[in-house]
This record gives sequence, structure tokens and C-alpha cells, in this order.
Amino acid sequence: MTYNMRSEFRKDYLLNKYVIITPGRAQRPRDISEQTVLHRYQECVFCPKNIEKKLILDKIGDDKSWQVLSIKNKFPAVTLKNQKAFGLQEVIVETPKHGVDLGELSPGEIKKVLEMFKKRTSDISKNKKLDYILVFKNNGSKAGASITHSHSQIFATDIIPPDVQEEISAAENYFTKHKSNAYADIIKKEIKSKRKIYNNKLIAAFCPYASAYHYEAWILPKRPADNITALNDQELTAIAKVLKQILMKLHALGISYNFFMHQVISNPNQYFYIKIQPRDSVWAGVELGSGIVINSVAPEAAAKFYRKIVK
Ligand SMILES: [Zn+2]
Repeated sequence: MTYNMRSEFRKDYLLNKYVIITPGRAQRPRDISEQTVLHRYQECVFCPKNIEKKLILDKIGDDKSWQVLSIKNKFPAVTLKNQKAFGLQEVIVETPKHGVDLGELSPGEIKKVLEMFKKRTSDISKNKKLDYILVFKNNGSKAGASITHSHSQIFATDIIPPDVQEEISAAENYFTKHKSNAYADIIKKEIKSKRKIYNNKLIAAFCPYASAYHYEAWILPKRPADNITALNDQELTAIAKVLKQILMKLHALGISYNFFMHQVISNPNQYFYIKIQPRDSVWAGVELGSGIVINSVAPEAAAKFYRKIVK
């Protein structure tokens, strides 16, 4: 199959969700244009000298020269004191440097950010009332737009969101039916497909078969690890390297993105993975009305675009 194909419906690996891949009406993957990234310096609340000490929950590095910080979210939607909206929220300041995107940090620095995600997940999961820990990032900075200090967030609640619950159930059903792990089988298939971005003995990265977003990419460890605390040093090193290269490609395209970690606590059928969802597509009537997403960048084309530098 090539990406010069006709439109086709595709179903998500596990969720009951559909996309229509319509490369016929696609803009093809765009050429990378040189862009001047504006490292405009602005003082902000995440710059080292402005961080309020009482907000600090955790740090990597020392007091004087921290590399990654976890701080309290000053305006949380959920708190441990509110029984009607129970949970907690934290902000991870990914670098002391203002105006530098996550993808622009070195692989070593990105690994420190992953280590902080691991530390915080470990810490938060000790609270037995919290069943779900989401680590996510909203990156809206494009060259020319106002630049915010690079950060990600943690959102933990006592409710497992329906989509995550659906995925857990689907993976369990898959195991019952096939006597094999759904994620292991997905990886096995995708690293041999045109959707492969990267593969080594520890991790795999690919554009998912039913990508709902232009240039959507997933990064997974190649063994059962249900959350980031189960990943070892070598795996984090490998993930940091590939994550950087994917984010650099998006950065070059000037596309904003969200990424988040699919993780659960104590489920042998689940694999941890990072989902990178670029915000390039506009969801309109079909998407909002039917829930079916039209994606004009075939994942096969997106993977080819990523592979150009991701070796
Ligand atoms: Zn700043």
C-alpha cells in the first residue's frame, strides 16, 4: 500500500474510533522551511528567579541550578481537598531557560524531564485514592508567536477516564481472544510497516494506523511496562532521543502539538506510551457532528517525513 491511495476508513487499534484517511485531498507533507525561532526574552513566572519557593514540590539539580522543577499548579481544577473534583495538578518546568522549546533541549536534558515525570508518577501513585495520572504537554509556541516558558503538566484523579477504561478493557479482551498482548502485537506489526519511524531493541516509534491527527506519532517501550516508573535508564535515554527528533521535525514545520503519556497503575496488559498529537488539522462539521475524523496526511507519509532524520 502506498500513500497515493484512495480515501479509506480505518479503525483505531483498540478504541471504537474511526478516521478517514484522505490523502487524495491532502496537502502533501510540507517541505521544511527555515524559520527563525524568536528567543525573545521575557521575564515569566517559570523563570528561575521568579519561582516561589513554597510552590516547589520536587526538583532535579540543586537549589542554585535546578534543571527540572515540579511546582504546584496555582489554579487547579481538581484538588485533594475537593471531594467533588478530587485530584491534583502539578506543573513541570522543563528547563530554567526561557524561550527554548522542549525539542530544542539536548537529549540529556529531555531525559531529565522524563526522569521528573517518572519521579512524580512514583510519588503521586503512593496516594491510593488517585487511580489515574496523566502527564501531558501543550506546546503552542510557533516562531513569531509569543513564547512561553517550556513546561508540561500532571493531572491526577480518582476517576479513570472513559477512553482509558475502554482501552484497558479492549486490551484485556484482546488478550483473552488472542492469548497475546495487544500492544506487543501492534508494535510487531508497525515496525515492519511503512508507518515505522524508529525501531531498536528497547523502543519503537511509529505513526498509528488510524492517526486522527496530521503527523501523529507514538513512542513505546518494547516490553510490558504499564507506566513510566517501570522504565529503566536505557529506555528513557532511547525515548528522549526519539522524542527530540520528532519534536524538532514539528518545530521545523511550525506546528503546535500536545503530547501525553498513556499510563495506568498496575495492569499487566497495558503498555506505557507517549502520544504526540500535532495541532495542524482543523476539526470541523464531520468531526464534531459524527466523531469520525478526516485526516488528510496519511500516517505512511508522516512516518516517511519523520524517518528522514530519525535513524
Ligand atoms: Zn521564563
